[in-house]
Amino acid sequence: KKRNPGEVEFHQAVEEVLLSLEPVIEKHPEYVEAGILERIVEPERQIIFRVPWVDDQGKVQVNRGFRVQFNSAIGPYKGGLRFHPSVYLGIIKFLGFEQIFKNSLTGLPIGGGKGGSDFDPKGKSDAEIMRFCQSFITELYRHIGQDIDVPAGDIGVGAREIGYMYGQYKRIRGAYEAGVLTGKGLTYGGSLARKEATGYGLVYFVREMLAAHGHSYEGKTVVISGSGNVAIYACEKAQSYGAKVVAMSDSNGYIYDKDGIKLDTVKRLKEVERKRISEYVKYHPEAEYHEGFSNIWSIKCDIALPCATQNDIDVPQAEMLIKNGVIAVGEGANMPTTNDAIKLFLEKGVLLAPAKAANAGGVATSALEMSQNSMRLSWTFEEVDAKLEGIMVNIFKSAKEAAEKYGMPGNYVAGANIAGFLKVADAMMAQGIV
Ligand code: NDP
Repeated sequence: KKRNPGEVEFHQAVEEVLLSLEPVIEKHPEYVEAGILERIVEPERQIIFRVPWVDDQGKVQVNRGFRVQFNSAIGPYKGGLRFHPSVYLGIIKFLGFEQIFKNSLTGLPIGGGKGGSDFDPKGKSDAEIMRFCQSFITELYRHIGQDIDVPAGDIGVGAREIGYMYGQYKRIRGAYEAGVLTGKGLTYGGSLARKEATGYGLVYFVREMLAAHGHSYEGKTVVISGSGNVAIYACEKAQSYGAKVVAMSDSNGYIYDKDGIKLDTVKRLKEVERKRISEYVKYHPEAEYHEGFSNIWSIKCDIALPCATQNDIDVPQAEMLIKNGVIAVGEGANMPTTNDAIKLFLEKGVLLAPAKAANAGGVATSALEMSQNSMRLSWTFEEVDAKLEGIMVNIFKSAKEAAEKYGMPGNYVAGANIAGFLKVADAMMAQGIV
């Protein structure tokens, strides 16, 4: 904490991982001797840069850009870019740190990294978004590459932003290097099922976890926070399994539709018209809209899928969910549950699917996009989705087995941390003190 003052989200993420590694360290003192823990919490490289751009009024705006290349022990750095006014180094470092273990869990050869900017895309014109993305990548291009570091989307960065960044990257480099960014559009190297991957993957993981404890989605009531990329496709897949999703949110408030959310309306509002979730009730007057997003967790549900942002569920929200009989919580967002709320869920026997494992489907499919780019071919939706499903089933298995091996059966938080850590730690040991 002294070395990284003020980076509260980073401290929180490190604390959660290190606590669950205690039994591993006891068994493997060689990791301590090789300084693995000190090295794994220190990014290999951190890049902070100026992003100047001109708004529609002709005024110069300046934002700050970040890329943290955290760990390359098992492959090129890989992780998304977040554009949100809350972004600062502590957020990027927490995300980059988590990404190391998540990427390891996928079983694919990708290291951990993350980046972004404090730029707020809300209310910006399409031309402003393009100018910002072009300026951002005009600096970042020199630090990335298909064998070096491969960014993707995250909050505020979708296919539109990736497209603008990719166009400018290609122009500067003068080469068609498709594998340098993932989440691309389908006409220029993107992968089918990438858009759906994080949400679908989350629902596959939670399906495995429910099944291991004698439950299924059929007839269950689900609440999902957020209405972005992850939330929309988690909703789609959960509905296809016979669950009833009754609530979704954005940063202003939440909608409650007791008969089940009509996802077509949410998709149109969010993916096409870029409107607020409150507009949903104009088309479905039987539904309710409530200002403020955190009360969404007061709605009674069997399964909670936080898919918006970090620290969405703290102790009061966890208490409401537990009181209402929640069976399982599946983290679609990164670190949506505080460490105290995680503790409470585990104590009360609520099944918890941790983000590192449960939302790894997005980055796994990004790695599949890189493979397709390298092979210069594209797989069908069904092929990619089948691989994604297989990966999620395997991640669940690894987390379950690690939890059992280290004496914490059913604790998938610890299981995922341990399984993700071991592969990276062994690779770091083998590569010497670097
Ligand atoms: P989007 O930008 O598509 O959607 C984010 C959603 O969360 C929006 O509904 C947004 O509301 C809401 N939200 C964002 N910030 C806040 C906030 N501070 N308070 C309340 N609500 C907020 O992002 P994604 O769906 O891509 O990402 C959601 C989460 O999933 C993030 O934690 C991300 O790191 C994680 N994730 C994403 C992956 C992906 O493939 N996209 C992969 C793995 C993890 P509003 O529109 O009002 O801002």
